[in-house]
Amino acid sequence: MTTPHLPAIQDVNGVVGGYLRDLAYAQDTQPKMFGYKRAAAAILGLERSLVDLVREHDNAIPRISGIGPASARVIREVLDSGASPTVDRAVDASGRRPDIERRRSLRRHFLSRAEVLRVLADTTIGGPAADEYLGDLQMHSEWSDGSSTVAAIAHACRARGYRYAAVTDHSYGLKIAGGMSMQEASEQRRAIDAVNEEHGDAFRVLQGVEANIGIDGELDLLHTEASVFDIVLAAPHSRLRKSDDQTQRMLRALEHPAVRILAHPRGRITGSRAGVVADWNAVFARAARRGIAVEIDGDPSRQDVDYDLARQALEAGCLFALDSDAHTTGQLAYAETAIAHARLAGIPAERIVNYWTIDRLLAWIAEPCVFG
Ligand SMILES: [Zn+2]
Repeated sequence: MTTPHLPAIQDVNGVVGGYLRDLAYAQDTQPKMFGYKRAAAAILGLERSLVDLVREHDNAIPRISGIGPASARVIREVLDSGASPTVDRAVDASGRRPDIERRRSLRRHFLSRAEVLRVLADTTIGGPAADEYLGDLQMHSEWSDGSSTVAAIAHACRARGYRYAAVTDHSYGLKIAGGMSMQEASEQRRAIDAVNEEHGDAFRVLQGVEANIGIDGELDLLHTEASVFDIVLAAPHSRLRKSDDQTQRMLRALEHPAVRILAHPRGRITGSRAGVVADWNAVFARAARRGIAVEIDGDPSRQDVDYDLARQALEAGCLFALDSDAHTTGQLAYAETAIAHARLAGIPAERIVNYWTIDRLLAWIAEPCVFG
């Protein structure tokens, strides 16, 4: 199989945000560190490229909330030369270069919000279109660590043009994230039934669950418990900062008969942790054989898997799920980050379960290998 042509990535906001994060970790005091972290977040969250914004302001840096003179200087340096000597000097002076370099290495293949929107709009890239996306299959409600009711989620998803969504609260094994007991799951089912009754054929909420992959690869759901849910996601939430190989753990999780989506497969967080280390070709081959979809988690701090690793999964023959992992209705837009990665990876919409009709989706959930 030939590797699809990879368009050049010129994510200036991503580069500037990265330098501001470096600068944050070079500070002596916590308030200064938080100030630069906020500045980085402001730049990474901008909807427009700094290149365009500066051009529109007669080559001046516009006022951006959270950006002071020192951050503006970093922006200017990057726009002029592609690098920031000021940040490099600060990193050297801090004596923390090794730690900062390590964090830098944990920012690979992350896209800024402006880059996500550029990739979605760039017709030369192709791939799945944002307006053909039919439903989001990972999000959290008030039943675990999310903040919204099921009714509010359904309303917000319909407003985004979706036909379905899976509410995937954490299962009981993940106490730290307010995991649901099976008793709570049956109460949640009644709440979901009531919402579905209200929306009729126009929209369907699936009761999903995000099961936790234990350190041995076992899920925190008995098979009988898993059968209560419409769709089961499995995801790692522990041993995410270890360098030992965890291929066997991931392969074992994929053997659970109920699992349909391998969610945020690595568990990486930008600039903080690399997540699970595994032979991903082996994991993807198993997922492909079992008809399990590999998730691209669109939470900006996760972007897991990213376009680079997703290309490996595509070559292994995997299906994909592109999800927001939203914990508020405002975060449903994170699905766009996942769609951008899928476009950069060259994944055809046909291989992405969120682009299937509800009937095809349900048929796959019932018999995944038929579609694998
Ligand atoms: Zn999770």
